[in-house]
Amino acid sequence: MTFDPTFLSNFLLVLTGFGGAFLAALWISLVIWTFRDIRNRARDPLVRILSVLLVGVLNLPGVLVYLILRPPHTLEEEFQKTLEEEALLQALEEMSVCPGCERRIKDDWQICPNCHTKLKKACHHCGKLMELPWNICPYCGTPAPGMRREGMSFDDALRGLQVDDNPTEDQDM
Ligand SMILES: [Zn+2]
Ligand SMILES: [Zn+2]
Repeated sequence: MTFDPTFLSNFLLVLTGFGGAFLAALWISLVIWTFRDIRNRARDPLVRILSVLLVGVLNLPGVLVYLILRPPHTLEEEFQKTLEEEALLQALEEMSVCPGCERRIKDDWQICPNCHTKLKKACHHCGKLMELPWNICPYCGTPAPGMRREGMSFDDALRGLQVDDNPTEDQDM
């Protein structure tokens, strides 16, 4: 077998051709990838053009620089984050505030732990919490102590007494 120098040069030529085509394809795909990526991350057209130019001119080192400098979150992620923050703010605003010291209180607290302001009162019959101005319990209908129910008939009063005094006997009957 004899060594053919033209075969070698042809082989090298083909190899260089393939290598060049591969590099060109890689270069184009990097530019396209950068364009797609920056489109999801920045709205500013100048930033988009600069990013694509950076990768287009510097190629692989340009991608490295782009990966370091690009905005850390995509627009979609930023949108989700603002939504979450808004929901959080709204939840904070909906929390009640103590009329005495304006600190945040929970709805089921009777007394502010900070300034000892009375916030709610408990129904003396069923124990559920009532607003301070209410003079009748909305859960069991028992008037607050010292309050008289207006327009209560004799029958209503009797029924109230039966339920109040011996609820077990009612169930047995
Ligand atoms: Zn308070
Ligand atoms: Zn009650």
